[in-house]
Amino acid sequence: MVQTATAPSGATTTDKKWVYLFREGNAGMRDLLGGKGAGCAEMTNAGLPVPPGFTITTEACNAYYDNGRQLPPGLWEQTQEALRDVEEATGKRFGDPANPLLVSVRSGARFSMPGMMDTVLNLGLNDEVARGLATLTGNERFAQDAYRRFIQLFGKIVLGVEGDVFEHALDGIKREKGVTGDTDLDAAALREVVARFKGIVRERTGANFPTDPREQLRRAVMAVFQSWNGRRAIDYRRRNKIADSLGTAVNVQTMVFGNMGSDSGTGVAFTRNPSTGERTLYGEFLMDAQGEDVVAGIRTPEPISALERRAPAVYKEFADIADRMERHYKDVQDLEFTIERGTLYMLQTRSAKRTGPAWVKSSVDMVREGLIDEEEAIKRVPAADIVQLLLPRFDQAEKDRLQREGKLLATGLNASPGAATGKAVFTADRSEEWAREGQAVVLVRPETSPEDYHGMIVAKGILTARGGATSHAAVVARGAGLPCVAGAGDLTIDAEKGEMRVGGTVIKEGEDISIDGATGEVFAGKLDTFNPSFKDEADLQTLLGWADTKRRMQVWANGDYPQDAARAREFGAQGIGLCRTEHMFFQQERLPIVQEMILAKDDATRQDALDRLLPFQTEDFRGILRAMDGLPVVIRLIDPPLHEFLPSLQDLLVETTELRVRGDNPEELARKEELLAQVEAMHEQNPMLGLRGIRLGLTFPGIIDMQARAIVTAMCELVKEGVDAKPEIMVPLVGHVNEMRIVRERLERIVAEIQGVQGTSVHVKIGTMVEVPRAALTAEAIAGDAEFFSFGTNDLTQTTFGYSRDDAEGKFLLRYVEEKILPENPFQVLDRDGVGSLMRQAVAGGRKARPDIELGICGEHGGDPSSIEFCDEIGLNYVSCSPFRVPVARLAAAQASLQRGERDR
Ligand code: PEP
Ligand code: MG
Repeated sequence: MVQTATAPSGATTTDKKWVYLFREGNAGMRDLLGGKGAGCAEMTNAGLPVPPGFTITTEACNAYYDNGRQLPPGLWEQTQEALRDVEEATGKRFGDPANPLLVSVRSGARFSMPGMMDTVLNLGLNDEVARGLATLTGNERFAQDAYRRFIQLFGKIVLGVEGDVFEHALDGIKREKGVTGDTDLDAAALREVVARFKGIVRERTGANFPTDPREQLRRAVMAVFQSWNGRRAIDYRRRNKIADSLGTAVNVQTMVFGNMGSDSGTGVAFTRNPSTGERTLYGEFLMDAQGEDVVAGIRTPEPISALERRAPAVYKEFADIADRMERHYKDVQDLEFTIERGTLYMLQTRSAKRTGPAWVKSSVDMVREGLIDEEEAIKRVPAADIVQLLLPRFDQAEKDRLQREGKLLATGLNASPGAATGKAVFTADRSEEWAREGQAVVLVRPETSPEDYHGMIVAKGILTARGGATSHAAVVARGAGLPCVAGAGDLTIDAEKGEMRVGGTVIKEGEDISIDGATGEVFAGKLDTFNPSFKDEADLQTLLGWADTKRRMQVWANGDYPQDAARAREFGAQGIGLCRTEHMFFQQERLPIVQEMILAKDDATRQDALDRLLPFQTEDFRGILRAMDGLPVVIRLIDPPLHEFLPSLQDLLVETTELRVRGDNPEELARKEELLAQVEAMHEQNPMLGLRGIRLGLTFPGIIDMQARAIVTAMCELVKEGVDAKPEIMVPLVGHVNEMRIVRERLERIVAEIQGVQGTSVHVKIGTMVEVPRAALTAEAIAGDAEFFSFGTNDLTQTTFGYSRDDAEGKFLLRYVEEKILPENPFQVLDRDGVGSLMRQAVAGGRKARPDIELGICGEHGGDPSSIEFCDEIGLNYVSCSPFRVPVARLAAAQASLQRGERDR
């Protein structure tokens, strides 16, 4: 785009406008000026004391790359003009020893990328200018220190000399002078440092350090453009899903010095506490220091409150500005400032990053203060972050202590938030055993599988060495609201020996470990946790109350046990959208009966086992239906392949081989060999596409008959007790209408039979999951036999992509996402174009055949804000997610409704 534009300070050019003075920009120009540039522009226009400067646009960065890494035509001329404007504003001149203008050259992209790109400070210095600066300030030490810092930064960033070389030279001089701190070096010593640094540059680059300030500036601008494609910046963009095409802006700004003596300083502050949201200025500062000293942690900064004593007038001015900025942006601000000889300068303002609790408190408070309205509060709180308010947390100071003591063992993936401390156990059985004795345990496994379930749900937390964000461990942990750190690859876990190793440390069974599922950190030792209580989180309750008035969709929860249901209700769930009955089969006293049922050689033996399971199941359903009194409970018939309930083929092979070698127990050997033969016979190449779901139900109808009997019996008994039990029977994995028809007829007969015996006549809804593409494609036909659809988007994603979820993550999926072959992990964020398109079709077909069909989602996506937005868009009646995600979903559903409203308007 070529446009006729007014160049800075009024000259007209037909070239594209690449450079904007701060006073020419505004907060709405973030794309073009980057966050920092737009912030400086907005502050300048608000009349704040911002050191004069200008911004070279992100478009110029892209043009630089398009132009074979050359500054595009016109850019340099515009830069020089802008510089003249700054000279006028400051009364200083670039390169003039009598009154020198020094500038900083900083990167600044659309999104903040902290520390990922480069910055050069004190630019404009050479020998004469440094001398002039010394005379002007009457402080030779200060001038030489600024000069050596400049050579060091410019040498590293622009000339590519390794930073260590300068550090070593500096250390060398300190040693020679017998001092330890940089601040102990006097002016003479710093002159020597400058000389040595220049020598290093000559030696390393074969050229003298550039003395022409304009040459310095041109090269620094190009270096900042280059840093957009530095390794660190690219990695950061990958991790944070920032597009490579955005480019960075370059901000050239008059230097102000916080290191000009005891009436100077520098600091950062938030307008509210970013960790709690409390309304107090929160931050820190250092007197007689530059910004990097605060970050480097060499000296300990003082809390911002101490500034009030040190420099009351400056503090008051800053506090007023902070307040004005917050009211101007109507959001918590993160401010950077410098004080130069008693004068305050504002360097940056931006929306503050903050924790979930801080988001909730600051937003609710701002509504009360009249700064924003309820809708704005609902819209701005990142829905996924509110789980942080519900889970156990560690005290940060405690974590810092362990880290200082060298007890941070590893960092894995933050797979499920929350904090857990307990004894390390390395098998699910040990976990169950110790938990039953009342001990807190953290289950540590190389990775987990369904056989570990009983040990997982009783642990305080789960730690694995392998697997990603949708690995079995992560999914189960999120479902149960347990903290999980997955894929901590530095750990070597030996479950048989009962130990894990990392670096030189060995943790044995029974030793304390702590995991933080919000950060992925793994510590040796014990950490105190505190448990927030949902009903005491008043601000969260308020926010969710507002959200409830705005959302169209209901929020239900996935839960298998009465305690899940109770928790879901407490969090505001309006139903149970998925009760997975098979988990009940894994419980201790039932598994042997389930195995008998599976291995039965004849119908009579099978029926006998089923008859013994019936009372257990009836009791299970009575529990969950009672807990959800008055609300619907969708109970799914058996789904997984039967081999999941049997010992693994590999274990049996090992056991029979050992028994054979020992030769001391022929009966046991015969028993195990028979079991092995049966397990072998049931072995499937692709179990997830094999005998499971309704295919299993139709092959062994006795199982689903038993389950239906249990459901209806529990319901009838409860209704007679006055409990409003509302079960809905859900058939998994239907792909053809005939499957649904046969099962529906069968189930209806059982419902009628039991209601006849019990003397009740309550309608029980029968519906299906939509979790294979064929069900979605033929939804209209299937809806003829199904009163509801629940999208099982875990399986629907597997079968639409043709990915085995268990294999995909470890093998290629994470790489796919990293390399942007896929925009997101489709098992976490619903794939709208593919899976979503099938869902749309199923919604249309279902509604066509049955206008009042009940439509919901119960896959993992039901708790993901982006997926929830899509569910709202396609008109589902409810989303169902793990109990701990219910508050997230309530907020996300309201956000979706508000967004849709805005779009429609
Ligand atoms: C699904 O497939 O989305 C689902 C909820 O079922 P499961 O995860 O139990 O296969
Ligand atoms: Mg499924």
